[in-house]
Amino acid sequence: MSEQNFDIVVLGGGSGGYAAALRAVQLGFTVGLIEKNKLGGTCLHVGCIPTKALLHSAEVADVSREGAKYGVKSTFDGIDIAAVTAFREGIVASKYKGLQGLIKARGITFIQGEGRLVSPTTVQVGDDMIVGKNIILATGSYSRSLPGLEIGGRVITSEQALELDYVPKKVAVLGGGVIGVEFASVWKSFGSDVTIIEALPHLAPMEEESISKQLERAFRKRGIEHSLGVRFQSVTQNDSGVVVTLENGTTIEADILLVAVGRGAATAGLGFEEVGVTVDRGFVITDERLATNIPGVYAVGDIVPGLQLAHRGFQHGIFVAEEIAGLNPIIVEDINIPKVTYCDPEIASVGYSEAKAAEKFGKDDIATYEYNLGGNGKSSILGTSGSVKIVRVKDGPVVGVHMIGARVGELIGEGQLIVNWEAYPEDIAPLLHAHPTQNEALGEAFLALAGKPLHA
Ligand code: FAD
Repeated sequence: MSEQNFDIVVLGGGSGGYAAALRAVQLGFTVGLIEKNKLGGTCLHVGCIPTKALLHSAEVADVSREGAKYGVKSTFDGIDIAAVTAFREGIVASKYKGLQGLIKARGITFIQGEGRLVSPTTVQVGDDMIVGKNIILATGSYSRSLPGLEIGGRVITSEQALELDYVPKKVAVLGGGVIGVEFASVWKSFGSDVTIIEALPHLAPMEEESISKQLERAFRKRGIEHSLGVRFQSVTQNDSGVVVTLENGTTIEADILLVAVGRGAATAGLGFEEVGVTVDRGFVITDERLATNIPGVYAVGDIVPGLQLAHRGFQHGIFVAEEIAGLNPIIVEDINIPKVTYCDPEIASVGYSEAKAAEKFGKDDIATYEYNLGGNGKSSILGTSGSVKIVRVKDGPVVGVHMIGARVGELIGEGQLIVNWEAYPEDIAPLLHAHPTQNEALGEAFLALAGKPLHA
């Protein structure tokens, strides 16, 4: 048995954990970073990056189908899944190599192995005791299922979906949230028949209702079926496929069922509760400074209740390192964190929806404006439809920006600056948006809210 001592020990090398480690060494701390699997975690290996690579292949498939529309002679001859996989794996491998190099270059001690919290200052890895003046818990999340719904065979999670070595003819997707609509979009572009089952009344149910409804229309137009407001009841599977039965008696036959009903916190059996850390339904409970109830022990990323996003993990990691350094950093609350749902069309948002703003600020004290991308030159060139919806407090700041359309994820950076800086539409309206860009749709909406619409 050996002992290693650090200023900070980070348990988990995903987005939250490695960001904490990188910022901590910048601040002069010695850091031990423990990872049982691969540095980079869910986002790099089975989440954000590989799925976006898949979506890019899907977009190229659609472009090849639509070439004639743009005067380009092209045909869609099908998907070479081995090449799709090679493209995806190549991207992941290059980012992984870069991250490994960065961690080494910055002088972080990387400890490969499964850690278990054994005291408020110690993580045990095999026979080794890794001791820190502070501990940061960053063990991430896993795909959940529903009671009675067992994952296995043709009933798969997003991780197995990434590994499929064929394009299924028919897919059923349980869950119309971010991960469900993302895979539904990819498979449709690859040529599958897709049906989404969602218990809530809308796809992308966390988003502004008018935006979710546009996604439903766009998916219908693309031929992606969806059963909304209906619960899953059971599934049976055999060698040739699955039969999904819904509560209303409807049955859906498919080759596979993707279960995308959310992610639980990966904290079971890691000693957190034994050491006295408060855990609720698997999630680690922290105060608003991300400190647990045990002094010196912090938690970051997906194990902290709230949005499960890589950039939230990054900011948590940076925040906690600075907090330990006594820099009194500012945290961005979940409501002000930008969210992107990557499918075709994309959804991007930050801040309050109209309904939530009405609850918070009063129905009569807010104003909204929705600009239709039909009026935007670049959107017409891209062949996309959608809208940009702004929510403001009357005579006050912008509190919500919501968008749907091709590549709008690239536009939400402006939205999150506006919302986080609490800018007024009147402040933004005179500022310029390059022409022709889809960004102009935001400019048009702010001009309209400032009482001087241009093209609206
Ligand atoms: P993780 O990335 O899960 O990292 C936790 C790490 O801890 C893992 O590497 C794990 O191996 C390690 N670990 C766990 N237990 C131990 C232990 N006992 N000892 C040692 N190591 C341990 N987010 C976005 O922002 N944008 C996206 O486009 C996006 N797409 C996604 C697509 C999919 C299909 C999925 C599943 C997720 C996606 N996410 C996306 C979410 C994003 O991946 C997570 O929010 C992010 O990875 C959370 O970071 P984390 O550090 O909290 O956890």
